[in-house]
Amino acid sequence: MKQLIRGIPAAQGFTQGPIFIWQDVDLIMPEPYPCSNPIQAWKKIQAAIESASVEIEQLRSKVLLDAGKEQAAIFDAHLMMANDEALHEMVKGLLEEGINPEAAWMNSINTFAEMLESLSDELLKARSVDVRDVGKRVLACLLGKSLIVNALKEKSVIVARDLAPSQTATIDRSLALAFCIAEGGPTSHTAILAKALGIPAIVGLGEDILKLKPGEIVWVDANAGNVIVQPEEDEQRAFFQRRSSADRQQAADLETAFEPARTLDGFQVEVVANIGGVEDAKTALAHGADGVGLFRTEFIYLNRQSMPTFEMQVDIYRQVVTVMDGRPLVVRTLDIGGDKQVDYLGIIQEPNPFLGWRGIRMISEKPEILRNQFCALLKAGQGSDLRIMLPMVSQLEEVIQARQLSNEALDWVKSEIPGWTARLQYGIMVEVPSAALMIEHFAPLVDFFSIGTNDLTQYTLAVDRMNGRVSGLASPFHPAVLKLIERTVRVAHQHNKWVGMCGELAGEISAVPFLLGIGLDEFSMSAAAIPAVKRVIRQIKTADCIPIAAWALNLSSAAEVCAYLQSELKRLTTNI
Ligand code: PEP
Ligand code: MG
Repeated sequence: MKQLIRGIPAAQGFTQGPIFIWQDVDLIMPEPYPCSNPIQAWKKIQAAIESASVEIEQLRSKVLLDAGKEQAAIFDAHLMMANDEALHEMVKGLLEEGINPEAAWMNSINTFAEMLESLSDELLKARSVDVRDVGKRVLACLLGKSLIVNALKEKSVIVARDLAPSQTATIDRSLALAFCIAEGGPTSHTAILAKALGIPAIVGLGEDILKLKPGEIVWVDANAGNVIVQPEEDEQRAFFQRRSSADRQQAADLETAFEPARTLDGFQVEVVANIGGVEDAKTALAHGADGVGLFRTEFIYLNRQSMPTFEMQVDIYRQVVTVMDGRPLVVRTLDIGGDKQVDYLGIIQEPNPFLGWRGIRMISEKPEILRNQFCALLKAGQGSDLRIMLPMVSQLEEVIQARQLSNEALDWVKSEIPGWTARLQYGIMVEVPSAALMIEHFAPLVDFFSIGTNDLTQYTLAVDRMNGRVSGLASPFHPAVLKLIERTVRVAHQHNKWVGMCGELAGEISAVPFLLGIGLDEFSMSAAAIPAVKRVIRQIKTADCIPIAAWALNLSSAAEVCAYLQSELKRLTTNI
């Protein structure tokens, strides 16, 4: 039967294909029950350990191919832990006491992990994460479930209630046709990752999307945010028409993407890319990026069991520096927390992770992580145009402390590499309203600002960017957000500091007249958005944008601003 499910566009594109339902594996412990036959119970646990070991072997082979020997070695350690004699003795002891197998296994795992956590050796301490990981995998097998139910076998449209960035990163991208997410918002990190991967994505599709059957063919129009099941003939025709006109526009934009982003009245801005690693950096240049305006370094830290070594960090940064070949490169220091969880960094479950121990806030407890990252960046950045940026800044002290650490790192790199130089700048993200309202105080401490509209929107409007139920309220076009953006640019310019924007708003073509009108210097976005934004910039005059920005700032809702800016864009350009 024909069905149309509407959501919010998160990454553009059109596709058709069978759906794959991503399963959330909930491991619910059974209520305690007495175990009268410990031998039988141990056999059950042994069988679960064997099944888990097969899964670990499979993961090891996949990671060996994708990421190399060093990463795969983690799974050797997992195999050893699952088969550890001392652990088995502990479990058998509890079974003898009459405790049920699931509880006996998990109690032993927790004791083992806590013992490791109490050690002073940081490396051994970090192993507790692996112990818990193995424990969960064996428990899943004991409960008749599997933690690797989500392996794609054919090209599919992935349907999920929600996906964490770490889950999205494990998906085989050559088989992912699109992401159709029931919850989530368009600026969730999964949506951003989908954009970077060039995979169409729709979020906020609601419960209906989860009711579709695995294998059912769906038509995904991610530009409009529609998923269609069994479309009528005229709808199929419209789908293909929309797809080919989008393809034509995209091809035309790509042809001119390498020309500078200069307005008709000669005002030039930088159009740069948001990246998560070296592959994205290459894609960005292929789409005409003038450089990188946001390198989200936290992706280096995700999906690992322990801290990346210093050499590993230097190696990754150096690869990106090499690809950029002297172009500007803004690297953001670790922004972990929020929806990006990394156990080995000591992140615990918090009631409000986006308001918690996130980004620069780790500096007071764990300054060595930041110092280490500064050192790695400076070492790799020798001779480059390196711009280091701090995330989630809300207090002056955070910047003062970070600058002290970066000075120490600078002394270190100069003593380590005689003659070391780089065109070095420091900046902060403006993504918390307090930072936007205190630009004049931050200005003496930095060389530049970059506005993160994804978080600035969530913090200004009090709308969780992950919560599909309220994501309709989270518009960066809301006049309150626009006022903070305008203030940031105006006051920063008064202090002779340049301002970029790396939130998703920078990649919206309808925002271009507003952003040019207030004088934004740098626009940073996913690679795919660059050609169209550059085209729009080349089609208009800054002088025409100034009154448009002033008018938009006086409107009273996001809907009014969107409608106004869209109609102004149409008026100013010919190709829309
Ligand atoms: C932002 O908040 O706008 C931003 C660019 O950072 P992130 O999306 O990584 O939180
Ligand atoms: Mg942010």
